[in-house]
Amino acid sequence: MKVTGIPVSRGMALAPARIIPPWPVFSDKRREFHIPKARQIASVQNAVSRLGAFYTERANGFYAIGDKDRGDIILTHNAILHDPPLQEEIIRQIQDNYALESAVLRAFRKYAATLSEIGNEYFGQRIADLEDVAARLICTILGREFPEIHLGDLPVILIAADIPPSVMTGLHPRKVAGVVLTAGGQTSHSAIIAASLGVPVITGCQGVQSQVTDGEQVFLDGHAGELHWGLEAEQIEEFTRLVQRNDRHMQLLDRLAGKPTQTADPMPVRLCANGQDVSSCEEINRFGCDGIGLFRTEFLFLGRQALPSEEEQFFLYKSIVTAMQGKPVVFRTLDMGGDKILPCFPSVEEANPFMGYRAIRMYLDREDVFTPQIRAILRASAFGKVRVMFPMISNLEEFLSAKSRILCIQRELDEQGIAYDPQIPIGTMIEVPAAAVNADILARHADFLSIGTNDLTQYTLAVDRLNTVVSYLYNHFDPAVVRLIQYTLQSAARHQKECGICGEMAADPLAVPLLLGLGLRSFSVSPGALLRTRRLISLCSIDKCSQLSEEVLQSVSAKEVIEKIQRWMPASYAEWVV
Ligand code: PEP
Ligand code: MG
Repeated sequence: MKVTGIPVSRGMALAPARIIPPWPVFSDKRREFHIPKARQIASVQNAVSRLGAFYTERANGFYAIGDKDRGDIILTHNAILHDPPLQEEIIRQIQDNYALESAVLRAFRKYAATLSEIGNEYFGQRIADLEDVAARLICTILGREFPEIHLGDLPVILIAADIPPSVMTGLHPRKVAGVVLTAGGQTSHSAIIAASLGVPVITGCQGVQSQVTDGEQVFLDGHAGELHWGLEAEQIEEFTRLVQRNDRHMQLLDRLAGKPTQTADPMPVRLCANGQDVSSCEEINRFGCDGIGLFRTEFLFLGRQALPSEEEQFFLYKSIVTAMQGKPVVFRTLDMGGDKILPCFPSVEEANPFMGYRAIRMYLDREDVFTPQIRAILRASAFGKVRVMFPMISNLEEFLSAKSRILCIQRELDEQGIAYDPQIPIGTMIEVPAAAVNADILARHADFLSIGTNDLTQYTLAVDRLNTVVSYLYNHFDPAVVRLIQYTLQSAARHQKECGICGEMAADPLAVPLLLGLGLRSFSVSPGALLRTRRLISLCSIDKCSQLSEEVLQSVSAKEVIEKIQRWMPASYAEWVV
């Protein structure tokens, strides 16, 4: 039996399935007027003591196997749980007629907001722990199972409707053989983080959790976007052979770690990584690259009720810049709304949220968001090479207005005697079709451009990037998208400005020769795709790629574009595509 989803990250894996139960969503608005308050308070106290016993036992388990770090984390959670002001706040919320679930959630959020205001690194990091403890406490009160992801030593293929990015980032790549998300499209943020683990990932396989048995051996083909289960013995043999061939490829790729990126000519090509946390820098540096081409700052805002302070942001940005050891880091300012739902920005009712009040449009109105973030980025620029870039820019005025706000903040820092890089390059993403059509205008004013093909495809083809019903239309090989990329690259070259691609297309093996032919010399891909992209580039020569792109530009459909690339591919290249 098999299901075909959307391939997100290539590779193959044969491993036991691990079905992840749906993540609980709690309401903070439920009221309760009938159950006596004393009984509700007793329920909370009872749950606190049961959860406390669970934490103690768990921490002791970790200490017994010498895992002090994890033991300490669990004890911190236990300390949060028993914190008197927090417990008092829960009781206050109950007295205020909130139902238990909402009372706990509101109390934790209030507590988190206070910690966030204190604004130092230690407290900033505790906020994620608070959310974890709150969810566990509510589950304990309601008698619901907390959907944990416990991973043993044997790698498993995770199958889930979705895994919150905050949980996904905590997963160890050695313990995850693959990820199958039943919701979401190719470029949902959970999918992007899963891809950064360097394992095969597919999305959009509706209902598969109920068909696969937890623990059964399944085969995940991240190239074809397929998940196979209910395997017969011969199938297991065949899939084992395929996985072994794939592993040989992976070993070959390991040898490219730390090597320069160049075409067969050889022509040097910039290869950067897309990053979202400090821990990914270690892997990025091991693979070697020319810097971080896209740092999605929204990951710091995910799953939080309160905005991170300037200090917390500064600490993160400085850590990234320092970890990248002199290589440039492009910080993209907060890209909220649309597919990036951030609890600290209450959603506004809009008929078309993807085209609504989001990203730079909201950012420019929110001094409380803009100023701390830009100050933090500028301050981090005193510690290494930093660039700043705006998302969702649709016209020149928007870009100039954002840029002038940066200049004002620079004056402010000057007056305060705070160090930053006064030459900091300021660039724009090209992800709205209007920005691509006006790329020549933007290229005159921006220091660099970066094409976000995920959104550029979505907006050009009017296809919601997360909607699996219309995902058959979502194709970055559509001639409309290819032409916009070509025009953007040409415009940037005319103004001698660097133009990269940081959307998922840059890591698509079928797209690499086409993009080189169109003139792209700066790729930014997820860390897991760095080595393969380096290998693919090394198999391409610029002349041949240019001929290919000329032919492709005559195509009338995405199908024809793909066929032309497939016909162009020498066997040595095709081996890496399937
Ligand atoms: C893009 O749109 O291509 C992009 C890189 O940004 P994001 O995926 O974060 O929207
Ligand atoms: Mg985008």
